Amino acid sequence: MTRILLLGGTGDALQIARRLGPDHVYSLAGLGKVPTDLACTVRVGGFGGADGLARYLDDERIGLLVDATHPYAAQISANAFAASRAAHVPCWALRRPAWQPQTGDDWRMVDNWAELTSALAPFSRPLFTLGREPLAHLDEIPAHQHWIVRCLEAHPGNAQARILDARGPFTVEGERSLFSASRIDVVISKNSGGNATEAKLEVARERSLPVIMLRRPDLPSVEREFTRAADLLDALQTLIS
Ligand code: NAP
Repeated sequence: MTRILLLGGTGDALQIARRLGPDHVYSLAGLGKVPTDLACTVRVGGFGGADGLARYLDDERIGLLVDATHPYAAQISANAFAASRAAHVPCWALRRPAWQPQTGDDWRMVDNWAELTSALAPFSRPLFTLGREPLAHLDEIPAHQHWIVRCLEAHPGNAQARILDARGPFTVEGERSLFSASRIDVVISKNSGGNATEAKLEVARERSLPVIMLRRPDLPSVEREFTRAADLLDALQTLIS
């Protein structure tokens, strides 16, 4: 039996975790909801860097490491790569393809918060869909802007910011209502790929609104890479049945 350690924190990872039996481990950073209805073991919290993860692979006699973390969770993916080398355990990864701009899209690529702030300057009603990061900048909102920040956790807003705690998938109809009601004039997004959060791009396109897109981090190449959870599950089938 090959014992699997699945690094998760995404909808795709949860879909895979639902198929794992009790010998396997599903690992979460502990920032979001922890599922309580899985047959596999669920562990929560960091490993203590690549060294800690390598020790865990050794101690728990893990035979296959599967990285199904978010494409912007670059640290844990780098750690997974390094630990798999150190512990001589193969690493497979789910690498969700990035969205591609389509005709009519106006994407403005940025690499960091400073570039994002400059790109945002001409706008007044941004919709942030980056996760928690904007919450640390609520005191820096320029006088001419009102932010809508959508993220997974409830958080107080202020006179210039409304925080929406909402979890995808989001529909085109729902996004249309939000864009209209909040008079959104620009969207700020990660290039997460997948269907769950893509509707905002469609609505931005319909309305000819620009999208400020945070560029994807580079991720290491591992033994086997999959672009769809279903293909990864197929490949795991012989190991988990
Ligand atoms: P990160 O910067 O790559 O990781 C930071 C640290 O969190 C890692 O060094 C590791 O701590 C711990 N960690 C991350 N994922 C873990 C996992 N699955 N199991 C155990 N420890 C983990 O990650 P992040 O961007 O903060 O994201 C945290 C989690 O949220 C990830 O699991 C990711 O899949 C999920 N998520 C992230 C985003 C995003 O936009 N970044 C979006 C949706 C979901 P140690 O070094 O101590 O091991």
